[in-house]
Amino acid sequence: MFNRILIANRGEIAFRVMRTARALGVETVAVYSDADAGALHVEMADRAVRLGPAPVAESYLRGDAIIQAALDTGAEAIHPGYGFLSENPDFVAAVEAAGLVFIGPSADAIRAMGLKDAAKDLMVAAGVPVVPGYQGEDQTPATLAKAAGDIGYPVLIKAVAGGGGKGMRLVETPDAFDAHLASAKAEAKTAFGNERVLIEKYIQQPRHIEVQVFGDGTDAVHLFERDCSLQRRHQKVIEEAPAPGMTDAVRDAMGSAAVAAAKAIGYAGAGTVEFIVDGAGGLRADGFWFMEMNTRLQVEHPVTEAITGVDLVSWQLQVAAGGGLPMRQDDLQITGHAFEARLYAEDVPAGFLPATGRIDHLMFPEDARIDSGVRAGDEISPWYDPMIAKVTVAGVDRTAALAGLRRALAGTEVAGLVTNIGFLQRLAADKGFAAGEVDTGLIARDPDLVAAPDAGGWRLAWAAIVAAGLDVARPWQGFTLWQPLTRRIEIGETAVSLVVARDAITAEVEGTAYHFARRGAAWFCDGAACPRAYRGANAVTVFGDDPVTFALPDPLDRGAEGLGGDVVLAPMPGLVQAVKVAVGDTVTTGQRMVVLEAMKMEHVLTSPRDGVVAAVTATAGGQVVAGAPLVTLEAAT
Ligand code: ADP
Ligand code: ADP
Ligand code: MG
Repeated sequence: MFNRILIANRGEIAFRVMRTARALGVETVAVYSDADAGALHVEMADRAVRLGPAPVAESYLRGDAIIQAALDTGAEAIHPGYGFLSENPDFVAAVEAAGLVFIGPSADAIRAMGLKDAAKDLMVAAGVPVVPGYQGEDQTPATLAKAAGDIGYPVLIKAVAGGGGKGMRLVETPDAFDAHLASAKAEAKTAFGNERVLIEKYIQQPRHIEVQVFGDGTDAVHLFERDCSLQRRHQKVIEEAPAPGMTDAVRDAMGSAAVAAAKAIGYAGAGTVEFIVDGAGGLRADGFWFMEMNTRLQVEHPVTEAITGVDLVSWQLQVAAGGGLPMRQDDLQITGHAFEARLYAEDVPAGFLPATGRIDHLMFPEDARIDSGVRAGDEISPWYDPMIAKVTVAGVDRTAALAGLRRALAGTEVAGLVTNIGFLQRLAADKGFAAGEVDTGLIARDPDLVAAPDAGGWRLAWAAIVAAGLDVARPWQGFTLWQPLTRRIEIGETAVSLVVARDAITAEVEGTAYHFARRGAAWFCDGAACPRAYRGANAVTVFGDDPVTFALPDPLDRGAEGLGGDVVLAPMPGLVQAVKVAVGDTVTTGQRMVVLEAMKMEHVLTSPRDGVVAAVTATAGGQVVAGAPLVTLEAAT
């Protein structure tokens, strides 16, 4: 085994590789860009080397700098993760020329599978079924259009150098062909520097089923299949293993085809053979076709690890260090079922727009596998993939695993930026998905899946209570409440009026009353448990199913006067320096009540009116959040 390896990647995959390396007693070297200087993967590594500024071309794609970093730190091998340089044969060749080991396949194997057209030709020769289509040299529009007609519409135009769904266009009718061809070529040129395309039959009701393979350069085994049919715009969203509806016969046929593909190129390490499958009717041994091979560890490898008990990164290190395949085909078995959901910073209702921002709060459930490269306080920057985490859940069977996924997603809390968590929850709750009716069109067919979350009703009422700090504070404690307190809270565009009694709050939102009751530390709304919520400086996020974030009016816009009413609130998060009043004191308008230190300044909070102090919830030396009630006056008579 190696003594020290360098991980040429960032984020969750760098962290994940390091976890296994550490378990194997292998030291790790991280590389980072300026944007990642304080990142989790840097913190976890034994050593870390700066590559350059944030743009990938000046950092994570700088093969020369990465190889130099490995040499300088005494690393013996380089793990590429996925993306970046992982499928770049020139990088592999340079790594080997420097006397280092590339943890992955040979440059030749990557080259053989690098372009989709050449890979298809190779697979035909190896006896692996491929999608009918045209992958010839002649790239003139007329030839391509004729090929499309011969194949029969609908067809798919694919960039031969494509990846991540880029440079791909579905063409339904001949008249639309030329326009789609031009845009596919333009996109391919920008993304891959190669505008060549192939034309494929578009499989109706397609399912994406891929087989995990593992080779040692001569022999290869497969670790069964993953179903990755839940896609939006050709990008995977939730993956699972095994595939729903899979039979032993089809699994054998697909597994053998995948192993044949790996052996045909003398494959070493972890790889994935992707098949497109006709989902109309059941799975058939003659109903799957090779699409492409990903010559690296895949994003969704945790579901395979969950059902096989194999640590694929450990296998990668063992084989790269010169070991043979750790297990034989017959020793590999499937136990249970697993799902993985990809949690992204993205605005789903806005068309899956990538989002950026600071993660103010991040919490995951304990009974799920979490692969993440960020923690609370980190930024999702515009420089890299906006993935926050992968949430993987296993169960004894598909039903149990799916229920576990729903629970795990309901217990996942992110605040501070927009995420796709609500969308993932709706997918996990989708009836067709639960029934195993998965195909790549499922998401596009149901507009409800991508709709904005419900931001009204009890959620709004609950957000108002949290915004007012009434979920944690007990303004009535230590004295008898003669009359209920009333409050008005503005949330977004809506005003919520709160009537606060002992252990109960009635919130009125646009004419509807919601009754909240406290039992112990928990709150219930009309009998149902209230989800957890996070109160930030400018927003409240209500978690649980269909989480939603409500903007709060800027606290700095409100002077002492604006606070009005019966309660003095903290206008911003801060430290209570002094409390100048006590319960029972008679106060006058403008009288000093609390001194708050925030944003390196002292803020004196004064009484909004003449009255008598009913409760003091602020304590000197205590930290308070924005909107926390500090002093409450007896209701005006
Ligand atoms: P998977 O099936 O593992 O999701 P993808 O091909 O969709 O595989 O992409 C895996 C990762 O590699 C993603 O993070 C994606 O952004 C990145 N990626 C895919 N293609 C490219 C490419 N041509 N150049 C750089 N990164 C890529
Ligand atoms: P990429 O390199 O971008 O991952 P793939 O060839 O793997 O490209 O295809 C990505 C996705 O596009 C597949 O997972 C599938 O949803 C869809 N797709 C690809 N080929 C076909 C096809 N022939 N018919 C229908 N859908 C397809
Ligand atoms: Mg693919």
